[in-house]
Amino acid sequence: MNRQQMNPLQCDVLVVGGGPAGGAAARKAAELGADVLLVERKSVIGEPVQCAEFIPAMLKGTVNVKQKYVAQKIAGMKTVCQGEKETITRAPGFIIHRQVFDQALVRDAQDQGARVMTRTRVIKRRESGEILLKEKNGQTMMVRPRIIIGADGPHSTVGKWAGAVNRHLLPGVQITIELVKPLDHTHVYFRPDIYAGYGWLFPKNNHANVGLGLKPEGNSNGSIRDILDRFVTALKNSGKIKGTPKGYAAGWIPAEPVRKTVYGPIALVGDAAGHTHPITGAGIFAAVVGGEMAGKWAARSVKENDTSLLNRYDHEWRDLMADTLNRAHQRRLHMEARWEDFSTTVRKCWVAYREYYE
Ligand SMILES: Cc1cc2nc3c(=O)[nH]c(=O)nc-3n(C[C@H](O)[C@H](O)[C@H](O)COP(=O)(O)OP(=O)(O)OC[C@H]3O[C@@H](n4cnc5c(N)ncnc54)[C@H](O)[C@@H]3O)c2cc1C
Repeated sequence: MNRQQMNPLQCDVLVVGGGPAGGAAARKAAELGADVLLVERKSVIGEPVQCAEFIPAMLKGTVNVKQKYVAQKIAGMKTVCQGEKETITRAPGFIIHRQVFDQALVRDAQDQGARVMTRTRVIKRRESGEILLKEKNGQTMMVRPRIIIGADGPHSTVGKWAGAVNRHLLPGVQITIELVKPLDHTHVYFRPDIYAGYGWLFPKNNHANVGLGLKPEGNSNGSIRDILDRFVTALKNSGKIKGTPKGYAAGWIPAEPVRKTVYGPIALVGDAAGHTHPITGAGIFAAVVGGEMAGKWAARSVKENDTSLLNRYDHEWRDLMADTLNRAHQRRLHMEARWEDFSTTVRKCWVAYREYYE
C-alpha cells in the first residue's frame, strides 16, 4: 500500500532541496523551534558536485559548521582578457569540498531537529495545500506543511507551482584536471569564442576546476563541449594544466532574479529564486544567506501563526542583494547585446574593472 493512503505527514516547514539554500533554511528554521522536514531527490546530499567550489572569505564565518570543508585558500582573482594585460583583484576566499559543505549544513539542520528524507522528490501540490512526495523505490506519500521553502534549484518545481520560473538560464560545463604547479588565485578568462560568458580555472590543491558558462543563443563557435575542449587545450599550451580531463559536469546558472519570491505560504530561495550573480555565476553565498533569512521568517510565521510574516523574507533579501543582482543583470543584458564589441564590453561587464561600477 502506498503511504499516501494513510494520514498525511504533518510539519511546520517543508524545505524542498538539500543544496546550500535548503540546508541553511532548514537549519535556521529548526534552530528557531519549527518542526522541519527537508526532502532531497538525490541519494547522497551534495553529489555529484556541479560547481567550481569558490566561496568568498566572508561566507566562512556565516556558515560556521564543525566539518572541515575548505580545500585551499584563495588570495585573489586574476582576470585575463584576450589581447590585454592580466588584472589582479583582491577577492579573497576559499575553494571548498562542495559535497562536504552541503552535507555539513544538512547535518547541522538534523542536529537542530530537522527530519531529512533523501531519494525523495516533490511531485505535486494539491489545491488543499498537501504535497505529494515520491521516493526512489516508487512509494508515494502526502505531507501537509504550513510553510514551503522552495530550495530546489534552477528548474524549481516549487517555483512552477507559484508561477515563478527562472526565465534566463545559462549552461555551465566543467572538468577537473591536474595543475602543473599549485596556484593561489582564481583565474578568469575572456575569449571571443566563450560567447557572452567566461572561462575559469579555480585551483584546488594539485588540481583545478576548469570550466565555462556562456550564452547558447547567438553562439556560432561550436558546441559548448567543443569550446571547453579548445579552452582546456589553450590552458595546457600556456603551461598551467596537464594530463587528462576528468569528471565532466554540467549545470544551469540563473542569470536574472525572479520577480517575486513569496507567494502565500511559499518562499523561493537560492537558485530557485534566481539569486545567482548574473555576471559571475556565483550563487553559494546568496543561497546560504537567503536560505537563513527564509528559514528565520518561516519559523516566525509558524510561531506567530501569521503566514504574512513570510513577506519579510522578500524585503530582507532585497535590502541585502537586489541592487547588486539588478546591476549585474543589466550588465548581462549589455554583454549579450554587444559581445561583438569584445574588449569594451568585457571592461564594462566584468566585476574586476572600474567601468563595471560606473
Ligand atoms: C558549473 C557550475 C559552477 C559553479 N561554480 C560556482 C562557484 O564556484 N561558486 C559559487 O558561489 N557558485 C557556483 N555555481 C552556482 C552554485 O552552484 C549555485 O548557485 C548553488 O548550488 C545554489 O544552491 P541551491 O541550494 O539554491 O541549489 P542547488 O545547489 O541546485 O540545490 C537544489 C537541490 O534541490 C534538489 N531538487 C531539485 N528538484 C527537487 C524536487 N522536485 N524534489 C526534491 N529535491 C529536488 C536538487 O537535487 C538539489 O540538490 C556554479 C554553478 C555551476 C552550474
